[in-house]
Amino acid sequence: MIYLDFAASTPLLPSVKNELFRAFEEEYSNPSSAHKLGRSSAEKIEKVRETIAHSIGAYRSEIIFTSGASEANNLAIKGYVLANQKKGKHIITSSIEHKCILTICHFLEKEHEYEITYISPQKNGIINAEDVITAMRDDTVLVSTMHVNNELGSIQPIEVIGKECFKRNIKFHVDAAQSYKKIPINVDELNIDMLSISAHKIYGPKGIGALYIRDLRETRIQPVIHGAGQEYGLRGGTLPTPLILGFGTAVEDQTIENTFAEVKKINSLLRTQVIEIGGKINSPNIKYIPHILNVRLPNFDAAHFVTNSDFLCSQGSACSSMNIEMSYVLREIGLNYNNAIESIRLSLASNLEYDSMTSFFNSIIRG
Ligand SMILES: *Cc1c(COP(=O)(O)O)cnc(C)c1O
Repeated sequence: MIYLDFAASTPLLPSVKNELFRAFEEEYSNPSSAHKLGRSSAEKIEKVRETIAHSIGAYRSEIIFTSGASEANNLAIKGYVLANQKKGKHIITSSIEHKCILTICHFLEKEHEYEITYISPQKNGIINAEDVITAMRDDTVLVSTMHVNNELGSIQPIEVIGKECFKRNIKFHVDAAQSYKKIPINVDELNIDMLSISAHKIYGPKGIGALYIRDLRETRIQPVIHGAGQEYGLRGGTLPTPLILGFGTAVEDQTIENTFAEVKKINSLLRTQVIEIGGKINSPNIKYIPHILNVRLPNFDAAHFVTNSDFLCSQGSACSSMNIEMSYVLREIGLNYNNAIESIRLSLASNLEYDSMTSFFNSIIRG
């Protein structure tokens, strides 16, 4: 089997696995306990907080651990807007966000009378920053955009959007689950107020992620999980020491950075071969990360391939692939149902060798 579904989740790095096993064995005490063992775990957790903060140009005191990017997105959006309802009830996001962002927005529309503007991308899956800026109003409290789209790999113009949000004093949230460690992020340079990341997209364990919140102590945020005061009262629950330490190991590791050029090479080889067999590239030709390649192949039964092939990939995102409904992301970039059922998302690391690439295309042509 060849794994081509890294955008859905990644395997553990050996170093992460070692740290997880060590920490599950040794760091069993509650990191909030006052005794030596608890304090020692708490210190290690703070080091990871520092590592994560440092990696995005933030302060340690601005990082909250969550169960992953979905929870981080919930805390960022619901937490901020519901605690600041007097500032206005208009939110801008895009129509190709991760499903969890769209679900949060639908909830706010339905239960809390928020007005949401969903910006559609251009045909290449890239959002036009001008469209976002034009949609900004006096009562806009939050703009939320993903950095990289999880189905297409398109890179969104967060720098331009962030600059305008800063000018107008609108909070700016970025879902960076797919971009973190693949594209350098500095929250100050990009004017990002909140940023969501997830460990299992960067070879860390599932069930842990983080939310960066600018000036956390001065920002009004409503908790999503009320608890016993952990994480500045914003996220109750005993901190999962092993998961956090495993997350830290994944953040420090440089595999993603070091294999970037190789993945880029694989991506362009795949693109050439797709065109050669008469296929089309759904991903953009500019401003994309090489790790995600969405393609449409002639007379290809993507659903059958995804469920049966030894090349493990997805139709659209992993979360929605069990549905018969077509991917809303592909619909938003102008594909119809017939185009969508011939489309697959290959998400790559440096594990795809030339020989397997050839057998991949042979298996597609054979059908
Ligand atoms: C994977 C992903 C998420 C969800 O992350 P979890 O940690 O699994 O909750 C959110 N947004 C994007 C863009 C993702 O790729």
